Amino acid sequence: MRTTSSFHIAMALAMVCLASALAGCSHVNPHYDPAKPHHTPQGFQNNYPPNPAYQRPQESFVQSWMNRLRNWTSDKPERKPTRPLLPVKPDLAFIQNNKNTAALTWIGHATFLLQTANGLNILTDPIFEERASPLPFTGPKRHQPPGLSIAELPRIDAILISHSHYDHLSLSSLRALYAQPGGPPMLFVPLGIDAWLAANVTGGDRSRIVRLDWWDNATIAGTEIHLLPVHHWSARTLWDRNETLWGGFAVRQPGFSFFFSGDLGYSKDIGDIAARFSGFDLAAIGIGAYQPIWYRNSHVSPEEAVRMHKELRIKRSIGMHWGTFAMGQERLDQAVDDLAIARRQHGVKDDEFFVLHHGETFRTDQPAQRCCGSGL
Ligand code: ZN
Ligand code: ZN
Repeated sequence: MRTTSSFHIAMALAMVCLASALAGCSHVNPHYDPAKPHHTPQGFQNNYPPNPAYQRPQESFVQSWMNRLRNWTSDKPERKPTRPLLPVKPDLAFIQNNKNTAALTWIGHATFLLQTANGLNILTDPIFEERASPLPFTGPKRHQPPGLSIAELPRIDAILISHSHYDHLSLSSLRALYAQPGGPPMLFVPLGIDAWLAANVTGGDRSRIVRLDWWDNATIAGTEIHLLPVHHWSARTLWDRNETLWGGFAVRQPGFSFFFSGDLGYSKDIGDIAARFSGFDLAAIGIGAYQPIWYRNSHVSPEEAVRMHKELRIKRSIGMHWGTFAMGQERLDQAVDDLAIARRQHGVKDDEFFVLHHGETFRTDQPAQRCCGSGL
C-alpha cells in the first residue's frame, strides 16, 4: 500500500514538474488596472499582508509538494471524526417545490443550495466528485456522498464560484450543471475564471458568464450578487498562482441578505465588508482547514469565524468547509467542537452559529432546531 502511494506521489511530482518546465512563459493579466492595488500585471494579490503569526516554515519547492501530496494521500487516525458524519435524507418535497421561502441546504464542503423568497435557486461552489483534486487517483477524498445529487436539484438559476481551487471549482460538476434540463444557469465568477469557463465548460459561449472584480455587483431577478475581497489565493496548476481572482459573495434582495465567505484567512477585509453592508440575515462561513497554524493565512479557525460573524452583524451563520474533504490536518469534525468553544468565548448563542448535516435544510421560516456543540 505504502509502495503504491509512494509511486503515485513520485508520478504526480514528475507530471507537475514536466508541465511546469513546459509552461515557461509568464502570464499577462488581461484585466490589469494599475489604479487597483489588488491587480498586478500578472494577476492579483491580497489587500493586506499575511499575518506573521501564521507564517509557514521555510521549505523547498520539492519538499512543499511532497508534504502536500503526503497530506492529501494519508488517512491519519487523528483525522477520523469522533461522531458519525452521515448525510440525512434531504427534504426533496420542500427543496424541489420551494418558491417562496428563503432556505439553505448543505450539500457538502462549500456547496450549498440557497433558495430565496422570490424563487431563485442558487448554488455555491458546486462539487459533487469523489475527489477534490487534479488527479483521479489521489488528492482529498470525499468522506461521505453529497447531501443531494445533481439529479435531485431543482433547476439552478445561478452558480457562484469563489475561486479556482479544486475543492471549489469542479470541471465535471459544472459541465453537468450547465447541461441541466431547462437551460444553463448564470455563472457569477471572479475575474479570470470567466475565460476558464468559456474554454472548458460553455463551449466558448460567454452569454451566461458574469465576471466580477472585488466590489462589483450584478443583478439577477431583482437580486444583487456582489463579489467581496477576502484574504486567499488561487491556483489550479503549479504555474498559474493568483492569475485568477478569488472572493466571497453577498446576495441581496429586499428583506433578505446572504453572505458566502468562500475560503479566507482573517484580515482587515472583514472590516471593509462590514463598513459597506448593514449586516446579513444568513451566512455560510468556512470553519475547517485551520491546522497546522500556517493554514490560517488562507482559512479562518472557528474562533476567527465567530469573530467574523459578530463583526459582519450576521443573524445566523452556518459553518462549512469541514467534515467532507480533509483539507486541513485537524480531525474531520474538530471544527464542530472548536465552534462550540468559540461561541461560549464570544457570547454567541447556539442557534446563531451552527452546522448542518449533509443534506439538511435550514429554513428561515422556522427556528434553528439544533446546534452542534455536543453532537450533530
Ligand atoms: Zn482555496
Ligand atoms: Zn477550500
